[in-house]
Amino acid sequence: MRTIPPRADVVIIGAGVVGAATAYFAAASGLDVVVVERGTIAAGTSSRCEGNILVSDKEVGPELELSLYSQRVWREDLAEFAGLWEFEAKGGVVVASGSAGLAGLRTLAQHQAGLGIRVEVIDSIAGVAELEPSINRDLAGGAYYPDDAQVQPLLATHHLLRLARGHGATVLTGTEVTGILVERDQVTGVETAAGRMSAPAVVNCAGAWSGEIAALANVHLPVLPRRGFVLVTEPVPITVHHKVYAAEYVGDVASSDAGLQVSPVVEGTPSGTILMGASRERVGFDASFSAEAVARIAASGLQLFPVLRGVRAQRAYSGFRPYCPDHLPSIGADARLPGLWHAAGHEGAGVGLSVGTGKLLAQGLTGRTPDLDLTPFRPERLAEVAAA
Ligand SMILES: Cc1cc2nc3c(=O)[nH]c(=O)nc-3n(C[C@H](O)[C@H](O)[C@H](O)COP(=O)(O)OP(=O)(O)OC[C@H]3O[C@@H](n4cnc5c(N)ncnc54)[C@H](O)[C@@H]3O)c2cc1C
Repeated sequence: MRTIPPRADVVIIGAGVVGAATAYFAAASGLDVVVVERGTIAAGTSSRCEGNILVSDKEVGPELELSLYSQRVWREDLAEFAGLWEFEAKGGVVVASGSAGLAGLRTLAQHQAGLGIRVEVIDSIAGVAELEPSINRDLAGGAYYPDDAQVQPLLATHHLLRLARGHGATVLTGTEVTGILVERDQVTGVETAAGRMSAPAVVNCAGAWSGEIAALANVHLPVLPRRGFVLVTEPVPITVHHKVYAAEYVGDVASSDAGLQVSPVVEGTPSGTILMGASRERVGFDASFSAEAVARIAASGLQLFPVLRGVRAQRAYSGFRPYCPDHLPSIGADARLPGLWHAAGHEGAGVGLSVGTGKLLAQGLTGRTPDLDLTPFRPERLAEVAAA
């Protein structure tokens, strides 16, 4: 039987990318941190996703602000580690199939530029082809976002935890949290399969399973799984230089429809394979293969790059985005139960938003005022909406 430390300043539940980032910043702030993970490191969605760090797909609002903050953390606070997780500022290209789509892109770009995002609207497909020579010439035009970037999420998760260990953190894998200990209406620790651990602060970083963790504390946190597939082609000589996606992708991301939605997202990799997404559907934790979703991903990808017709698929994988009904994560202390904190529900942007979330949470855990106002991310806001 595994022995666990009897106490910690902070117990973090979940060793995905969000838990790893939170552990790193909390441990670097001097807190005694223990991460408890029921599986292996990145056993959940953080090993079944892509690693885009996007500003281009965010509507104006709190998520965009968190995204800009997180971009700065990746690029500035963590600059010395960029090579560890293959940080690449590859840029994003959003394409529109007709004039209406292009007009929508222009409006969004104007709002975003007002917030300091670098974006260049490209009025012709010939202009887009200068960035992406293999693009479908029947499209209308697009927008270029030089600040869109990516990391390798599995590497980011592992290295953030390794760096956290360097600051004294402990990472317990294969250890399930089975209960949240509460005394006199205050969290006092966790019950695990290996025994009890006392801590004045417990952070729920359980991704798509964070609603279950909240329920252990009798707190309602409506995080649901939103399944997504990624299709990987065989290595090809055709290169896709940026993250390239269709303008309707932004609408699909923001949609709350439970049915299957597919909008094309295509990117190349250094090994020559092409990654194609993106599907979204709410089917609970059903991990079975969906030929329909993958076939539609392939068909929509060909709309952007017809040159890929005939290329063979090598594999497809799926993961569960942690989805909240208002598409915002829950970040911060839970006002309903002192000592319970959440960093959960980042849906399709958890890799990009992880390090900003972790830094902000560490500020809160050490009694400092977070750099960003966390009011829009209050964990209890969804219960208030449900009760209204
Ligand atoms: C197809 C797809 C593509 C994506 N692409 C991108 C992208 O390009 N960019 C981006 O930013 N995001 C992307 N995402 C979203 C991103 O993957 C998630 O937002 C992110 O991985 C969530 O991280 P997390 O740490 O919150 O959750 P997870 O990685 O799921 O970690 C939660 C952990 O909690 C553990 N856990 C659960 N219950 C317990 C328990 N009782 N005790 C102990 N441990 C427990 C789980 O085992 C798991 O390891 C994508 C998602 C999908 C599905």
